[in-house]
Amino acid sequence: MPDAQQHSDSTVKAKSTEDVIYTELYDAICERQLLPDTKLGEAMLAEHYGVSRTIIRQVLLKLSGDYLVKLEPNRGAFVARLSLDEAKQIYAAWRLIEAEIIRDVTASATPEQIASLRALIAAERKACDQEDYPLLTRLSTQFHLQLADLCSNRFLGRFLKELIPQTSLAYFYDVRKMPLCTKDEHSLILNHIAAGEAEAAVTVAMQHLDGIEAALNARTALEQKVSLVDKLKSRVPSLS
Ligand SMILES: [Zn+2]
Repeated sequence: MPDAQQHSDSTVKAKSTEDVIYTELYDAICERQLLPDTKLGEAMLAEHYGVSRTIIRQVLLKLSGDYLVKLEPNRGAFVARLSLDEAKQIYAAWRLIEAEIIRDVTASATPEQIASLRALIAAERKACDQEDYPLLTRLSTQFHLQLADLCSNRFLGRFLKELIPQTSLAYFYDVRKMPLCTKDEHSLILNHIAAGEAEAAVTVAMQHLDGIEAALNARTALEQKVSLVDKLKSRVPSLS
């Protein structure tokens, strides 16, 4: 039935278009390219990507389900924002879950999985050397998400995957104190995991998260230097 086939094809195409835009905006928020409170104008995004506002609305709804976007009646969509207290609560939860994940992964990690994590750290090192901070931010997060993926307790992994992206929504970071190049600490954690030293790995991981949390500072805020329009114009749209 050609009609049914055509309908199914266009549904698949619309789905993948939605996914591409979703991933771009998700990454831009996690890379802190789009900072908290940035307005995500439906019409502007629809024009930028050359798609209908319906597709943009679906993407924004999905991002709000990830807690990365807040939808306000009559005002539209904005990148969500965490208060300092909420950010601290997220780090407290992250520490608890991370410790269990590390114990689990240390007991079960295969040489291939360790090698894959080492490759990720090498990519972090390269991004750091090239001063590609958005990429470095994403890869640093990826290290923890990949550990979560290896955890045999799927629920723990799922909690962490929901929590970590939200740390991008904390507005109160003293950028000068942020440990941007975390590759060496990741390397240390991984060495202990590879050696089967779970508690040593947990100790280093806790110090690592403490260090990141210490950069939270109520008196400083990330500066919003560019608008959404400028930011998106500087990116090559994946769709056209
Ligand atoms: Zn880290």
